[in-house]
Amino acid sequence: MFNENSGKIYACREKSKTCGYKCCSFSDNYIVMYPGEYEMTELKKDHLQIIENNYWGGKKVICTTRCFDEDYKPIDCQSYPYFPFVDMDNNIKIQIGTKCPLTKNELLNHKEHFLKNWEFLLSEQIIEWIKHINLIGYKTIEDWPNEYNNCD
Ligand code: SF4
Repeated sequence: MFNENSGKIYACREKSKTCGYKCCSFSDNYIVMYPGEYEMTELKKDHLQIIENNYWGGKKVICTTRCFDEDYKPIDCQSYPYFPFVDMDNNIKIQIGTKCPLTKNELLNHKEHFLKNWEFLLSEQIIEWIKHINLIGYKTIEDWPNEYNNCD
């Protein structure tokens, strides 16, 4: 089952002293929310400012303050620095945000968590949505593992 308010990375406690929470600062970047995600949660959303209300059926938002346990943390933030990427042939891949300094080893548990969350979200509709969206500052790193692909 998709966990609405997860995605904390243990290694961030130390790393954030030097990275300064780059993931939570916005210039030309933004958070994407899949179609229905904003409406679906009953958690607080006061910290989320909508900057595009219909982004291929979803939304683009930014954070105006840091979020706390009672606030909704969008799946994009829960997944960071990872996010799915879908190419024009419908191949699902993993992309990573390049401004995050965490290493592959520091991200091992988080990656598992990310894959499990998305395994339940990757419906045909969401795959189509991912095809259209554009994330700033990401690069594609590898294929999506078959064992986490529940959408066939
Ligand atoms: S940029 Fe990376 S290391 Fe820094 S707080 Fe965000 S997720 Fe953690």
